[in-house]
Amino acid sequence: MILDARNSAVELNRRTPILIIGGGVAGITLARKLARHTRVTVLEAGGFEPEADVQSIYEGEAVGLPYSLTATRLRFLGGTSNHWGGWCGRFDDLDFRVRDWVPHSGWPIESSDIAPYYAEAADLLDLGRAEFSPAALTDDPRLAAFTANPWLDHRAFRFSLPVTRFGAKYRGELEASDTIELLLHANATELRMDEAGGRIAEVRVRTLDGRRGTIRAGTVILCCGAIENARLLLASRNQVDHGVGNAHDRVGRFFMEHPHVNLMDLLPRDMDWCYGQMALRKDGDHWFGFGLTLNEEVMRADRCLNLTAHFMNRECQAGETVTVSAMFEQAPNPDSRVTLSDAVDALGLPRVRLDWQLTELDRHSFRRAAQRIAGALGSIGLGRVRVGAWAGDDPPERIGYGSHHMGTTRMAASPRDGVVDADCRVHGLDNLYVAGSSVYATGGPINPTFTLTSLALRLADHLQGRTTGP
Ligand SMILES: Cc1cc2nc3c(=O)[nH]c(=O)nc-3n(C[C@H](O)[C@H](O)[C@H](O)COP(=O)(O)OP(=O)(O)OC[C@H]3O[C@@H](n4cnc5c(N)ncnc54)[C@H](O)[C@@H]3O)c2cc1C
Repeated sequence: MILDARNSAVELNRRTPILIIGGGVAGITLARKLARHTRVTVLEAGGFEPEADVQSIYEGEAVGLPYSLTATRLRFLGGTSNHWGGWCGRFDDLDFRVRDWVPHSGWPIESSDIAPYYAEAADLLDLGRAEFSPAALTDDPRLAAFTANPWLDHRAFRFSLPVTRFGAKYRGELEASDTIELLLHANATELRMDEAGGRIAEVRVRTLDGRRGTIRAGTVILCCGAIENARLLLASRNQVDHGVGNAHDRVGRFFMEHPHVNLMDLLPRDMDWCYGQMALRKDGDHWFGFGLTLNEEVMRADRCLNLTAHFMNRECQAGETVTVSAMFEQAPNPDSRVTLSDAVDALGLPRVRLDWQLTELDRHSFRRAAQRIAGALGSIGLGRVRVGAWAGDDPPERIGYGSHHMGTTRMAASPRDGVVDADCRVHGLDNLYVAGSSVYATGGPINPTFTLTSLALRLADHLQGRTTGP
């Protein structure tokens, strides 16, 4: 059932076994799975379509590297899936491990902990199947020359088709559901703990036209996207100055993106090889493509971060140059962070202040990867390469980003190192969980949504049977 919280006939003081805050990818994934066994309430800040006053809640300050807080997320049913590109890939095993050259690396789970959810996630995201192994997907001989090189590896991407807009796709199912009640235009504005401070007792709700309510829930799951998850925890400071779940000052820290850098221009000797690298291919009805990466031994030897490089201009003709661009993993950095601004929004909540920062390890990785990949392409005999002048010395002039927000409630075994535990439960609180890429301890060199969907499905399994009251 879908209700509009602005409607005065809709009661905003409610009780529910499970409260999901946010009706985007993570929230809808969890609601659909949990609702097979229990009643679920979902709070969604927006309606069915974008609305200017709703979207303006996402405005804030970017005080670090230039960043748009509004263009990179959407506040209505389906969330940012309303304009995501549908690129999906899986993390490498390496991405979960502690790497001695990457400070703060390592998750308290391994890739094998979420791999059982890949098929279900691929189904939800309309990927056809969860096959990401380049060798299983093609035997095109034009690709073999790249991976015969001792430094290079391939990774595969699959594309969501038709690209999954979670609100549009699942609206009918949500409307028809007997076990899901979805409240539109319902903004969670505060998490309130019980007297002992060990549980979330209630969640305050507001509409932009001033209706208010209090929801008491057995279990609360934050699914607001990585910036808002941190903001809501930090802004819930009426009972504790530092905000909920933030006893060790970890909430909002370790904000990560995927820095995008143009590594070099390539003037190919043999276009056919380039087309082999650039081509989008079909696996049944679904499309996939490849990116290049450095293998693990090279990353270890160079002490650099993980990356995915793409040959960009798919339409390019003989005689034209191809731009080789890379999407990098960002080094986890406690000083790259989300905090609260002094300005307040129309709900009375402090706006967000984002300080996106890179480290010397990021810049070293850009330079080293450019040199390695240029060397590898040269030794394959693919053509002439011109690496940006920065690769020897200065940082690149322009660093792009993927609109991927990660890390602000990172997963760690200890509350001193992170906000949630291996089950995505907020350390120190019995009934508060977080879903979405804010739990990422490291961001991998891959678009985040496939992994966050898999983690949300895993969380639903964890919660199954654990939910009580109120
Ligand atoms: C232009 C663009 C292209 C992208 N392309 C890709 C891609 O190709 N591949 C990929 O993997 N990822 C891509 N992404 C990222 C992808 O969209 C996100 O990873 C994904 O949407 C995150 O899902 P989520 O559920 O965590 O957050 P969201 O989808 O943002 O959902 C959060 C929901 O919570 C609601 N909400 C927020 N605060 C509150 C509150 N206080 N109370 C109630 N509700 C609230 C919001 O309205 C929203 O519906 C792209 C992003 C952008 C901007």
